[in-house]
Amino acid sequence: MIVATDIARSYDLGGVTVSALRGVSLTVGEGDYVAIVGTSGSGKSTLMHLLGALDRPTSGTLLIDGRDVSTLGPADMARLRNETIGFVFQSFHLLPRTTARDNVALPLVYRGTGRRERRERAAAMLERVGLAHRVDHRPNQMSGGEQQRVAIARALITSPSVLLADEPTGNLDSTTGQQVLTLLESLNAEGVAVVLVTHDRDVAARARRQIVMKDGLIV
Ligand code: ADP
Ligand code: MG
Repeated sequence: MIVATDIARSYDLGGVTVSALRGVSLTVGEGDYVAIVGTSGSGKSTLMHLLGALDRPTSGTLLIDGRDVSTLGPADMARLRNETIGFVFQSFHLLPRTTARDNVALPLVYRGTGRRERRERAAAMLERVGLAHRVDHRPNQMSGGEQQRVAIARALITSPSVLLADEPTGNLDSTTGQQVLTLLESLNAEGVAVVLVTHDRDVAARARRQIVMKDGLIV
């Protein structure tokens, strides 16, 4: 599903080059469950952004769903994300003044799905993540765990084959973190490939495969 071969990403900061990722090869298959661990600054988020087609490598080859991202323009990248990838951020990234339902429905707007179907599917997805009673709440009326579940519902609304989650439990207390993790694992059991970044050894140990990063490389 995702095949990365020797991908690197450097950032040019006014003449100084920061090598965030220095040549990483990795395959994510159907139904995979991969945990990425490593110290802060080791390149985990940079890698996740690449795997999620939010960014492109400066060198190396990255195939997502059989498509070489280096050949895709911004519109094709957006379409690839919308069709294939669900992305969950540590800090949720929800629209603050928008209801849970409309946050979750947003990816369907880009697909041209009609309003009625959007509303129905978003409500069904919120029910799936245990938030049937929060459909009309805005993010600032919800707990962190609830907001993260809204973000997961938004990532799932397009039925992605890969769910990428960058420290999805990082801003949650341990009980709420467990609930979010259980949810990700039930999705994985249904066949969605899950790649998550975590600082928590116990969380990582639950994955089928662990990848340890250091200084922009997989160790
Ligand atoms: P992690 O998620 O493991 O903490 P990151 O991928 O966020 O690591 O960062 C890896 C390295 O790349 C760090 O040195 C970081 O400062 C640098 N970096 C990340 N994003 C940018 C950016 N947009 N511009 C410049 N440097 C960046
Ligand atoms: Mg990070």
